[in-house]
Amino acid sequence: MLDIIKLLPDSVANQIAAGEVIQRPASAVKELMENALDAGATQIDLVVKDAGKAMIMVVDNGCGMSETDARMCFERHATSKISKAEDLFAIRTMGFRGEALASIAAIAQVELKTRRKEDEVGTKIINEGSVVKEQSLVPMQPGTTFTVKNLFFNVPARRNFLKSPQAEMRHIVEEFTRVTLMNPEVGFTLTSDGKELYHLYPGNLKQRIMGLFGNNYEERLLPVSQEADRVRITGYIVKAEYAKKTRGEQYFFVNKRFIKHAYLHHAIENAFIEMIPQDSFPGYFLNIEVDPADIDINIHPTKTEVNFLDVKLVYAILHAAVRKAIGQHNLSPMIDFEESADLNNDFGAAMGLSSPLAIPNIPIDPNYNPFSKPSTPRESMHGGSYRPEHNAAPGDWRILYGERTDLPEETVAPMEEAAPKNIYLQVNQSYIVTAVKSGVVVIDQNLAHARVLYEKFLKEMENHNGVSQQELFPQALSLNVNDASLLKEMLPELENLGFVLEQANPTTFMINGTPADAAGCDAVALLEKILDNYKINRTDLQLDRKLNLAKTMAAQLSIKAQTKLSEVEMQKLVDQLFECNVAEVAPNGKKIYVVLNMEDLFK
Ligand code: ADP
Ligand code: MG
Repeated sequence: MLDIIKLLPDSVANQIAAGEVIQRPASAVKELMENALDAGATQIDLVVKDAGKAMIMVVDNGCGMSETDARMCFERHATSKISKAEDLFAIRTMGFRGEALASIAAIAQVELKTRRKEDEVGTKIINEGSVVKEQSLVPMQPGTTFTVKNLFFNVPARRNFLKSPQAEMRHIVEEFTRVTLMNPEVGFTLTSDGKELYHLYPGNLKQRIMGLFGNNYEERLLPVSQEADRVRITGYIVKAEYAKKTRGEQYFFVNKRFIKHAYLHHAIENAFIEMIPQDSFPGYFLNIEVDPADIDINIHPTKTEVNFLDVKLVYAILHAAVRKAIGQHNLSPMIDFEESADLNNDFGAAMGLSSPLAIPNIPIDPNYNPFSKPSTPRESMHGGSYRPEHNAAPGDWRILYGERTDLPEETVAPMEEAAPKNIYLQVNQSYIVTAVKSGVVVIDQNLAHARVLYEKFLKEMENHNGVSQQELFPQALSLNVNDASLLKEMLPELENLGFVLEQANPTTFMINGTPADAAGCDAVALLEKILDNYKINRTDLQLDRKLNLAKTMAAQLSIKAQTKLSEVEMQKLVDQLFECNVAEVAPNGKKIYVVLNMEDLFK
């Protein structure tokens, strides 16, 4: 028998490897742009012809290469970025495998021109199908230009399987977007078939997002910033009202490297859960900074997957960061301070956001005599606030409304001038109409109550303090085996809400107590509904279960439309609504109220 095993020639080995790294023109675009970034370029220009099939050119003003390195860079596993195994755990560059250029050269005609600052002239190399065809000296500016022509010229199968020019161009624009987003301090251009599609000037992330997605993103974005022990999250989310029906504006980066991560995406969806309709997707541009030792990016050559050492921690921090950003945004219209919505003030604290509420310091002028002069009635209609007027003592409502209480004299008004009692009207037994500082607000009573209950239930589950009401005649809840085991899964949360359930046999539970908020409601029907909804939206996450449960309970137990309310009930509901973290939208994503502002009313 003859021996039959042979080592493949480099050119063939490279072609095989290329199949993994370079799947389409956009993959080459990504690799070349990342190399330019790794080379420290401050300006990178991308030029493509025929969606990259005819030509891809990347021009950078980075560090350039020596003559030897220029030859060397096309070798497989040739890299300047790591040199030993430990380096794999401390990667700060985009590249590290030394595979990209070898792969590209194996399947295309590549021209490299490169010059270091310290050299007088540059080096030009032409490499076709892993073979150096030409090497010469060229006069040029410092930096590097790679021109890749006729991608897959020697792999007809690949070339034939490329999609339409429009589809391939979309891939290129997507890669361009990912790379440019996280490097806003670098200038970029993208020119396709002679037309400049993007001209991105150096700036900050917000400017970069606007440069890529349009200037109307200026008001759509909410900043996110959260720092924890080993994780830092920064960037922007798109406000809930601009959520899109299609996926797309969802950009996660880990140490500036674009990643796809379903689990972390879920953290964001969850943070938005009751604010955007179920068929819409939240937009985000977020960078997660971690110690390179805490991740493993070495999973796949195309590197959009990343393994975190402690992904649960990242999930929790991400979720909190997005919640905070949403919370701050939803608060701001209620804040009257002209300067800005600074959440570190007492008002923010009063809304349960940051440090505990400080005792307000109200200096009182001892010489003040309320009867000595007819002081002008205080202007209580300040623009911008949706907070309804209360009958609270003058000192504290002023603080809540963000008024200055530290001014001498007059500022602390005498009792007689306290805000007048507000009027509550019920329209069609479904809507509550009342005055707020900025005008008149019309509130959907059902949605408002659902929001109030939803936040209450979430808190109760968090604090394990739902109030229970004992059933005089316990009802039996009979279930099938599957549902019985689901109910068992939910028992801790249900008990925290105030349910007292006792398993009588494998499929029957006795309902010995129900939450106080469920008084007078059919407990069996309620639990069946909870099970149904749980099954529909079930995932393995604890977080989900709580949100799910709170949402269902709130929907079931909230005051319905066509229910008459007394004025006291209306006032209480309105007060509770505006004490919620998110007063604008119901757990089902619907808007709870509209405000007719003074201007509209005057008209
Ligand atoms: P990697 O980026 O993983 O190191 P590549 O095959 O992409 O592997 O590049 C090989 C090497 O070529 C790099 O490590 C770098 O030293 C050099 N190189 C590539 N592109 C450039 C560039 N635009 N400017 C300077 N050096 C470059
Ligand atoms: Mg590279």
